[in-house]
Amino acid sequence: MARGKYVRTAEHRLHQSLKHLSQVGFWTGKSRSSDILKKGWETRRKNGYVHKVPTGAKSHFWKGGISFEEYPQEFNKELKLKIRERDNFTCQLCGKTEGEEKKTCGRILAVNHIDFDKKNCDESNLNTLCCSCNAKVNFHRAYYTEYFQQYQTCSP
Ligand SMILES: [Zn+2]
Repeated sequence: MARGKYVRTAEHRLHQSLKHLSQVGFWTGKSRSSDILKKGWETRRKNGYVHKVPTGAKSHFWKGGISFEEYPQEFNKELKLKIRERDNFTCQLCGKTEGEEKKTCGRILAVNHIDFDKKNCDESNLNTLCCSCNAKVNFHRAYYTEYFQQYQTCSP
């Protein structure tokens, strides 16, 4: 009786470890530097998978909708237009254009603060993102801040 129980446990463990192994190397061969890759997985492991994070009022990220008031005056329509123009009206993560964004989401592309400091409106700290990439970036702040900062130093 006891033996059968142990066998099942061993099988279960083997199954779990195989499941784990199948996830390792997911990004292998894809065009990301190993540092970024490592940090991405660390962040993901720390946060758990994004899908489990509750949204809206139930979320820990929700601050009662006051966040919009924290933007300084200089972060205005003109500045956002300037950034979107600089980025060719294209999402800097997935390459979606403003025309596509208008069609699918009914809105223009968003201007994102790379270091998430809303008061840092230096043009080098701003980039253009579509609504879905903006949400993605907000869930993995540390990872994407580094990602964009590295990306910007590489490009002229
Ligand atoms: Zn995008």
